[in-house]
Amino acid sequence: MAGRKDIIVKQSIPQHLRYSFEDFLRQFPDNDACLEHIKEQRWPNGITYCEKCKADKKHHRVTDRTAYACETCGWHIYPLAGTILEKTTTSLRTWFYAMYLMGSTRCGISAKQIQRETSVTYKTAWRMFKQIRSLLAEEIQLEGPAEMDETYFGGRLHVGKGGRKRLANKTRIAGMVERKGKIVAKTATETGNNQLMSLATEYILPDSTVYTDEYAAYDKLSKATKDGKPMGYQHRRIHHASKIYVMGDIHTNTVEGFWSLLKRGIGGVYHAVSQKYLQTYLDEYTFRYNRRDQGNLIFKSILEQVSQRAVD
Ligand SMILES: [Zn+2]
Repeated sequence: MAGRKDIIVKQSIPQHLRYSFEDFLRQFPDNDACLEHIKEQRWPNGITYCEKCKADKKHHRVTDRTAYACETCGWHIYPLAGTILEKTTTSLRTWFYAMYLMGSTRCGISAKQIQRETSVTYKTAWRMFKQIRSLLAEEIQLEGPAEMDETYFGGRLHVGKGGRKRLANKTRIAGMVERKGKIVAKTATETGNNQLMSLATEYILPDSTVYTDEYAAYDKLSKATKDGKPMGYQHRRIHHASKIYVMGDIHTNTVEGFWSLLKRGIGGVYHAVSQKYLQTYLDEYTFRYNRRDQGNLIFKSILEQVSQRAVD
């Protein structure tokens, strides 16, 4: 975990949103500090219900264990119980560092980097990222004006007779984004166009204006219904086939900007992402995108998910 010069902290980030690697080292000098942090997130000041005393009690750290004990009866509670860190044999600090890295980049960090910078194996690093990503899915409702677009991802290159190349098994992704707001990106693996329409009605609020390109899948947007109720979308289209990309406020540049961010990141860092895991990568990228005004504090948001998504 030596100095990290390759993470460029943009100086345009306002002071209150900065969180440098030095800040990280200061706040989390060791595993105890990490455990204490999770305990405080779940049970501020160590006060929580004690099953034995049948009352709220203060709890104190038990030396050399990941437990805290009730100050009255000594019953143990475990801050990591029900979290992704519950059964880990990797140090908490390495986990926190992985979350720090994930929150400090726009384009994603590979498991290889964690492997290089800490003592964990590639397999362990890969599993850590997978589990952290599992915390980042969120349910969001978008309010118009919104853009919707689809793109294709992955797939293997097949070389046919005569050297003709084609990509097979590509995965379709649908993106819906508020202009200057939040984004939702979902894999849309069903063939045909119905899934795109049901994603629109699930995530874009009624009466929104929705901008798309001329793709026929969006023909029904202005007539879209959910539970039998009309969504009342105002549908505006840009004709990319005619090489027109912007006409007044009609364009899909916001969602396309996200596609290029995603492709730069996954293409460059992860190399190949299987269809099975693609949604979790989309969750990671949208989580960051939706907090792009939080500077380096995205790390804190990721960290919060550990205790917030603990299962009791
Ligand atoms: Zn007690």
